[in-house]
Amino acid sequence: MNTNIFISGLILSIFLIAGCSSDKVKIPVPEKYVELNHALTDGMITFPGTSMVKYLHPENRYPNGSLVDGLAVLGISATYIDSPHHIDENMGNISTWPLSSLVNLPVTVIKLREGTRVFDVKDFENVDVKGKAVLLLTHQDRLFGKPEYIKNAPYLTGDAAAYLVKKGAKLVGIDSVLIDNPDAPDASIPAHETLLRSNVVVAEDMTNIASVVGRDAYLTAVPPRTPTTSFPVRIFAAIYR
Ligand SMILES: [Zn+2]
Repeated sequence: MNTNIFISGLILSIFLIAGCSSDKVKIPVPEKYVELNHALTDGMITFPGTSMVKYLHPENRYPNGSLVDGLAVLGISATYIDSPHHIDENMGNISTWPLSSLVNLPVTVIKLREGTRVFDVKDFENVDVKGKAVLLLTHQDRLFGKPEYIKNAPYLTGDAAAYLVKKGAKLVGIDSVLIDNPDAPDASIPAHETLLRSNVVVAEDMTNIASVVGRDAYLTAVPPRTPTTSFPVRIFAAIYR
């Protein structure tokens, strides 16, 4: 090797190494952010009988012009996530979810097949779900707030939930009222049981999932650190391409 080329290469390598060691991490800037949640509004109905949103506010502003208000809410309202405590008294509540299960999860979207209301194992075969937020696109969210929303609602089978656990999914979300069949004759909730017992986050009553189809999207779903079994969440995706 030519000595000059060797020395030039050596100097360049040292320069690059020195440069890398002093540079800060460069965080990529998303093209846009997309909301995947229903906003909480006073009196809204999500699942009749188990949801409540009540806006609390004082009569007047303080003399300095400020206003303090609040919200009384049941966990299953608007768009929310469940914790393992939802199905097991001895498992963790919302505050125990690690941020690694809630932040910047790569998204994969699975569409409901025509003529069915069920996501089953075959829908996920040949799909890489490891470490991902798996979003189930049903378009049922078009009926959100109407009585039809909870009728014949699409859902994930227990077998499919077990498959997603085995393949390493981190979060499973759906734009329908429940991830389980709300009309199950025995009221069983096998998808909840399987996913939550394996510490896979369950997100329900999502919306706008179609906007991330085919995009390079990363999902974040972070609620306050509440002691509850479920809690509303601002769930959104950062879109990079
Ligand atoms: Zn649930």
